[in-house]
Amino acid sequence: MKKGKKLYEGKAKIIYACAEKNLVIQHFKDDATAFNNQKKSVIEGKGILNNRISEHILTCLSQAGIKNHLVKRINMREQLIKYVSIIPIEFIVRNIATGSLTKRLGIEEGTVLDNPLIEYCLKDDKLGDPLISKEHILTFKWATKKEIEKIDKQLNRINDFLVGMFRGVGIKLVDFKVEFGRLKNSNEVILADEISPDTCRLWDMNTDKKLDKDRFRNNLGNLVEAYQDVARRLGILHEQSNIRPIKFPRPKAVKLKKNK
Ligand code: UDP
Repeated sequence: MKKGKKLYEGKAKIIYACAEKNLVIQHFKDDATAFNNQKKSVIEGKGILNNRISEHILTCLSQAGIKNHLVKRINMREQLIKYVSIIPIEFIVRNIATGSLTKRLGIEEGTVLDNPLIEYCLKDDKLGDPLISKEHILTFKWATKKEIEKIDKQLNRINDFLVGMFRGVGIKLVDFKVEFGRLKNSNEVILADEISPDTCRLWDMNTDKKLDKDRFRNNLGNLVEAYQDVARRLGILHEQSNIRPIKFPRPKAVKLKKNK
């Protein structure tokens, strides 16, 4: 698939035009950012893993009847996706309290919530993605009442599906962020963006070991290894696979014996 011009570059992904009408190419970078872009790094192999994990999750969701933008993965770093205009809201679903929820409201870290909690944040880096209410969304016409009702229902279905899927491989789905967009031709709202350890909090069921971007946020190290662990448990990375390019040791200089 031939890539056209760059349409948009975000923190972790780039969107390119392509020859197919109403479709675009989504490219996963190795860049990692946190704390509203204040912390930045390049983590070799992260983009490849997120491409693969997100493809797997969106394919499963599609099979479960949750329509989304994925058409197909086309190579290690890229997917063909439906072209949508993204609704400028980050939709967060929480099952266990951590991160900004604990800081904002003083809720104890690790509190298991009786029901999934949905939060809305305005997608605006300059403002630090502030928390907003449904009333803000309607007042400023970021989405219609009907759209939000549909999205809320989908968020609960996505959460139910993902909690079950991760539980089956020994992982707790603590929280996650998703985005929705309107299809260019019909305005229909569908799930878009990505679902990966960059956008979810995933804790090992037995040890609470973090298997997500908090390893980068909190300087815990071994991020690629944790993402590989998630991919392996989901059955999409074979035991021997090594996402990082193999580094061969430099051959030692060999002294040739002079012929006497
Ligand atoms: N999240 C994300 N992108 C963002 C902000 C949050 O993917 O720009 C995800 C994050 O990985 C977590 C969930 O949304 O799974 C809830 O994040 P929280 O608000 O606690 O974020 P924090 O401010 O702690 O990074």
